[in-house]
Amino acid sequence: MGCAPPFCRHSALDLGPDDPAYLRLFLADGSIPHIARCVREGFATVVDGSMPSFTCPNNMSIITGTPTSRHGISGNYYLDTRTWQPVVMTGPELLRGDSIVTRFAEAGAKVVSVTAKDKLRRQLSKGLDVSKGQVSFSSEFAEQCTLEHNGIENVLQWLGMDKPGMYSMELSLFVLEAGIRLLKERRPDLLYLSLTDWVQHKWAPNEEGARTFYRKLDDCVGRLTALDATVALTADHGMNDKSNAAGEPNVIWLQDILDARFGKGETTVICPITDAFVAHHGALGGFVRVWTRGKTSARQIIDHIAAIDGIEMALDRQTACRLFDMPPDREGDVAVVARHDVCIGGSESAHDLSGLKGHRLRTHGGVSEAKVPFIVNRPLNDAYKMVAASSTLKSYQVFDFAINGTL
Ligand SMILES: [Zn+2]
Repeated sequence: MGCAPPFCRHSALDLGPDDPAYLRLFLADGSIPHIARCVREGFATVVDGSMPSFTCPNNMSIITGTPTSRHGISGNYYLDTRTWQPVVMTGPELLRGDSIVTRFAEAGAKVVSVTAKDKLRRQLSKGLDVSKGQVSFSSEFAEQCTLEHNGIENVLQWLGMDKPGMYSMELSLFVLEAGIRLLKERRPDLLYLSLTDWVQHKWAPNEEGARTFYRKLDDCVGRLTALDATVALTADHGMNDKSNAAGEPNVIWLQDILDARFGKGETTVICPITDAFVAHHGALGGFVRVWTRGKTSARQIIDHIAAIDGIEMALDRQTACRLFDMPPDREGDVAVVARHDVCIGGSESAHDLSGLKGHRLRTHGGVSEAKVPFIVNRPLNDAYKMVAASSTLKSYQVFDFAINGTL
């Protein structure tokens, strides 16, 4: 498969032969000319995202410029071992430190952030004072915006778009159209646009729905770059097909396996991909955490599951946190990573897969989905050429590159 030289240059170092699969395909066949121009005239490579390769950890890494170990959001859920209850990690109170957007706003910059999912909006706008011209809203709740909470109101009328469905490509396109309009009308210094991965969960790169979305995405990128903005593109994670030849998901029901060996209630498996948008992945991902009540050791769990076909890694807390730069106080006793074609669930009875409706399961969370594109539409200055050449870039450096790194 052909691809633009900057991708080829770095991809030899990468784990996955295909990521970023969508961009590779559409760059090769000419479907995304505006992004191709960014690759050609600016800077483009493939970098490591944060682990686990889920939405919240990576958006928070990007928006804070720090690894998961620093900002603390290592999934959508963790287990509070004092109460043995799963705790949603999407509240702003669990985010450690401030976002780049908030710091810029405090220093007097005009900032705008638009997300597809509202859970992200709440964390991204932590500490952001929207009474002074800043804007922060989600397309999920676009019709509920108020000046008091979002810095903008009557969004549907202003943009001339209907409220997008929760499971639709319009949920992302709405974000982009709002961003373009805000850039034109308010000329913010910093604009953060975060999309949702419904399209990639639903369609493989070679399916028409994916191409339709990327063409629309590319058109938006073209309009953003035409507004004389430095445009940086990256992703929170990749995506892999995790179904067998018959189209059924390759699932390891880890809670059932552990219950059968160690007894019910002894261990708790948390699937940190779980959120309000489960219909397209059934809360199944490539990374889960296991906590033990104490009678069973992490070592016993690892010994029991490490050799299961489809499990790529089963790591104790210390090793997982060291390897993936994650916060120990929110890590399980054992972190489990699936192979690229497999996902891990809790108990079979606890997952609702009806939302897949005949689709192959495509999902993410593991190391095999942690390679992401990193594209800036302008050439790097000499200092950042050095940074790019001398270190292993992370996706959370994207703001730094966009703000400080271009000519
Ligand atoms: Zn997803």
